Amino acid sequence: MTDPAAAPASAVAPASASASAVLRPAWVEVDLAAIRANAALLARLVAPAALCAVVKADAYGHGAPRVAEAALEGGAQLLAVALVDEGLALRRAGVRAPVLLLSEPTPAAMLEAVAHDLTPTIYRLEGVAAARRAAAARTASGPVPVELKLDSGMHRVGADPDAILDVAAAIDAAPELELVGLWTHLAVADEPADDFTAAQLRALERCRADLAAKGIVAPVVHAANSAGAIAHRAARLDRVRCGIALYGHAPSPALDGWVERDPAGGGPLAPALSWKAEVHLVRRLAAGERTSYGRTYGLERDGDVAVVPLGYHDGVPRRYATSGGEVLVHGRRRRIAGTVTMDQIIVDLGDGDGDGDGGEGGGDGGDGGGSGVRPGDEVVLIGRQGGEEITVEEWAARLGTVSYEVLCGIGPRVPRRYVDGGRPEGNAAPGR
Ligand SMILES: *Cc1c(COP(=O)(O)O)cnc(C)c1O
Repeated sequence: MTDPAAAPASAVAPASASASAVLRPAWVEVDLAAIRANAALLARLVAPAALCAVVKADAYGHGAPRVAEAALEGGAQLLAVALVDEGLALRRAGVRAPVLLLSEPTPAAMLEAVAHDLTPTIYRLEGVAAARRAAAARTASGPVPVELKLDSGMHRVGADPDAILDVAAAIDAAPELELVGLWTHLAVADEPADDFTAAQLRALERCRADLAAKGIVAPVVHAANSAGAIAHRAARLDRVRCGIALYGHAPSPALDGWVERDPAGGGPLAPALSWKAEVHLVRRLAAGERTSYGRTYGLERDGDVAVVPLGYHDGVPRRYATSGGEVLVHGRRRRIAGTVTMDQIIVDLGDGDGDGDGGEGGGDGGDGGGSGVRPGDEVVLIGRQGGEEITVEEWAARLGTVSYEVLCGIGPRVPRRYVDGGRPEGNAAPGR
């Protein structure tokens, strides 16, 4: 057996890369220093409210355990996930911080949630009953902390305003449970001019007052997602739940630059994720040749194309190419040449004129052609290369979607590598 620590570091794969990153040269790079800095910036912005780092969906594709750790180091006081399984994965990874579940677990999942110290959100009487059973079954002593969720107008999950008092009273009457939070979720906080946010906040305040009148006090009240935290001071309350901003992205184009302009923020959010691969092979094609399934893309002149080992299973949608999608090679934007396939894309490198790296006719007989691009050269799908950058927001605009969906769309078989302030660090973990 070879000692992996003694293996020579390749030019592109740090010795710390996971095995799969070495075997398949395509990876997501996450800068933990950016996560830490974004957490610190958001914590400063919303103080004295506490920052909850939302790390559901494998931390929006960034890898939940490492992001959770970095966010806590940066100043987040707790974590939130959508699913019990996601909370269990954090516990298995050794994360000890409080973890809030954003939806009410099913009765079966409630047992697992409580046994592993995840804080359930509750909004139905069945949820209260399940939490009581789970509390009785667990070995740890003391009441189980739970949070209560109000539906203030988003109409996804949460108790109706006229049903929530019964749920609160049932929690209050259960000695095994302790109400530690009351919260709601904002539907249009990323549209700062919409007054529905203020209406939702009034509904939450009314609910808090109604509970107080019955002697039921939730010590922590919260409403804001990233957009609420950034654009609505009144929504910050005792805690904010930030996902997208933690990863360095504005919740919507309308909120671009808001954190930077807020004197309490004192800086821009830093995108933490880049997406890269190595060129698998370069081939020279004659003018008129057509590429990939459907032969939809034709070369107008003789030129090189590169095959890049990422496809739609990995999160490059077919419509990214049809919308004119580009990648960076040798610091220049290059079109995706034709249909995105499941595992690979083809990239049009042109014929090398004017790109300053291949030269007219140079290198024609070698691995590459006039483009000067060689197998193993770095391709950037998202991130910087030389003076160029392709952002998550550019992808979202091309695809007619939001940055969230682009990030979450990067597939689980793409390994996640971690860097710290741009430098590789010692123990990169593979993606799930
Ligand atoms: C996903 C989610 C968040 C985080 O939203 P961002 O816009 O990414 O900050 C907050 N709260 C709830 C209930 C969520 O589902």
